[in-house]
Amino acid sequence: MSKRSLISSFPFQLEPELVAQVHCSLLRWYSTEQRDLPWRATNDPYAILVSEIMLQQTQVDRVMPKYEQFLTAFPTLADLAQASTADVISVWVPLGYNRRAVNLQSIARQVLAEYDGRIPDTIDGLLQLKGVGRYTAGAIACFAYRKQVATVDTNIRRVLHRIFLGLEFPEQKLNDANMLTFAEQILPNGEAYSWNQALMDLGATTCTSSNPQCTYCPLQESCRAFTEMSQYSLFPSGTVLRQLRKVAEKKADYQVQPFKSTNRYFRGRIIDHLRTVPSGQRVSLADLGAQIKPAFTHADMPWIQKLVEGLTKDGLLDCANEGVCLP
Ligand code: SF4
Repeated sequence: MSKRSLISSFPFQLEPELVAQVHCSLLRWYSTEQRDLPWRATNDPYAILVSEIMLQQTQVDRVMPKYEQFLTAFPTLADLAQASTADVISVWVPLGYNRRAVNLQSIARQVLAEYDGRIPDTIDGLLQLKGVGRYTAGAIACFAYRKQVATVDTNIRRVLHRIFLGLEFPEQKLNDANMLTFAEQILPNGEAYSWNQALMDLGATTCTSSNPQCTYCPLQESCRAFTEMSQYSLFPSGTVLRQLRKVAEKKADYQVQPFKSTNRYFRGRIIDHLRTVPSGQRVSLADLGAQIKPAFTHADMPWIQKLVEGLTKDGLLDCANEGVCLP
């Protein structure tokens, strides 16, 4: 099927000339404005896997120093696979979502045991790795092995949606599966690496979720969302802009929630405390509770028990009758 007929198979009009124009503008912008990120200076699939797992749920600025430290501690996939899980978790902290560290090590061990230490280079092969989803598989295939494949993360989804489909408010016009198919169909020939990186950069720096900087955007002339926003803002109701603001406000509300009262915070406190305990020494739940929560009482025992069960299930703790320790 030709690219033209594929594009027209979606329930909206999309001119190949428009797609070509967007390719040209965005790739030109990327050639001068791309972010200088350490994982872009390597083709090592292991290093790129580490960066991709770290970038899930964590901002680039926080990932950069930890990425370097992690690769210094575990320079190769074999080093990571053969390390103790307690050491891996210790180096990972304080990046957060520590379960990612355990998952990353599981992948390394699987690759060593089943793939002779070589990370697969195809989407299908990468999807066989435990915990690797379609986005990460696409990112590794493209960024490490330069395969001509599409991949869709939050930034790419938002940017593609706005350029070709218009504003994603009040509802997205394509579900995840269709967005991936769409992304595959508009991939520029031979430019998948730069194209995917450029979409991510534009989404992170210019076409942000609640405050798109259309004035500085290289795609303004081609962008459907920009046209919609310009039209709506002519009316006093300003419906679309209000929608955008609502999203920003919702995010702000979320950020002021007291993080220090969340289970996620206390899960982190448990790992932090156990890192200070001599290797193999176990800590009773009552002692652990007193260490992580100043006002801890016996009534909190079911709560800490549940936290410990969750961390054990995630592979972050070793739990026994005598108490808990890092695995
Ligand atoms: S013109 Fe505005 S909405 Fe469109 S891609 Fe650029 S920043 Fe995003």
